[in-house]
Amino acid sequence: MNPPTFEYFAPTGIDEVIDILAKYPGEAKILAGGQSIIPLLKSRISSIPYLVSLSEVKGLSYIDEGSEGVRIGAMTIDSDLENSDLVKKRFPILHDATEQLADPLVRNVGTIGGNLSHADPANDLPAVMIALGARFTLRGKGGSREVEAKDFFLDTFTTALEPEEVLTEINIPFWGKKSGGAYVKFKKNTWNFSVAAVAVQLELDGNRCRKAHIATTSVSPKSGRMEKAEKALIGAELNDHAISKAAAEVATSSEPVSDSYGPEEYKREILRRITREAINKALSRAGGN
Ligand SMILES: Cc1cc2nc3c(=O)[nH]c(=O)nc-3n(C[C@H](O)[C@H](O)[C@H](O)COP(=O)(O)OP(=O)(O)OC[C@H]3O[C@@H](n4cnc5c(N)ncnc54)[C@H](O)[C@@H]3O)c2cc1C
Repeated sequence: MNPPTFEYFAPTGIDEVIDILAKYPGEAKILAGGQSIIPLLKSRISSIPYLVSLSEVKGLSYIDEGSEGVRIGAMTIDSDLENSDLVKKRFPILHDATEQLADPLVRNVGTIGGNLSHADPANDLPAVMIALGARFTLRGKGGSREVEAKDFFLDTFTTALEPEEVLTEINIPFWGKKSGGAYVKFKKNTWNFSVAAVAVQLELDGNRCRKAHIATTSVSPKSGRMEKAEKALIGAELNDHAISKAAAEVATSSEPVSDSYGPEEYKREILRRITREAINKALSRAGGN
């Protein structure tokens, strides 16, 4: 099906993008990789009168290492993240997610900024950014502001972005020396969204867990921190008992619904299993047993 008619803008500067968004509040939307917004238009689920492409705006695609973390431009495509040695070395949890995200065709055009701004609870990158404690830079008429990943996702397809704001950068802080993370995704075929997925990032203090962030995909209206599960790990020795307790907390505090991917109880059981797997993998990457 063809999309409804829209006016297309391809500005070359970010200020111009913001001006157009501000001129048509709520009616103009950003076009990044188009992998979510174009299918919505073509299926006529959405009608958007003004599309503002970011493709001609220079300087929005980069992965840069700084002294305190890694900065990623919002127009960086998923396959650049997947193939980045810096990401593999510093944030294997992000590599786990990008190598399993959709298929190579989608990864070659879909962007990190689009994946996050779309706020689909089935998208893989929100949970990973929440687990990593990332901060997002949003630019609007009044300048820039920073929002933590955990506060960015307000509801299904709803974020903290104001209508005239653009997500320009993702800033992932380095964790301590003995830290590691993992993203485990359970899906029914190679290219699809997950039945359930979980992101775990840990920091160790000797044998004990100093810091833990856990977030899920596809099993709640929005991705968010699983604080009860995190509490089961923090301060504990990460033995089988603590890991099982945290996995059980993730399974009970999620809100999966029965659908074509499977019944609710099945999804809770998947969550319990993949959380155990993700914690064990994160622990091993952090240099624990
Ligand atoms: C067949 C298929 C399978 C898929 N499977 C998966 C999967 O397994 N896992 C997964 O995570 N995703 C999956 N996706 C979704 C894919 O990752 C999309 O690329 C992503 O959701 C949107 O990124 P985009 O760059 O294409 O954004 P677009 O589609 O261009 O935009 C999406 C939304 O974000 C807004 N937006 C985009 N960039 C910005 C910005 N910088 N600032 C403010 N707003 C912005 C747009 O206005 C729009 O509302 C799949 C898509 C397809 C087509």
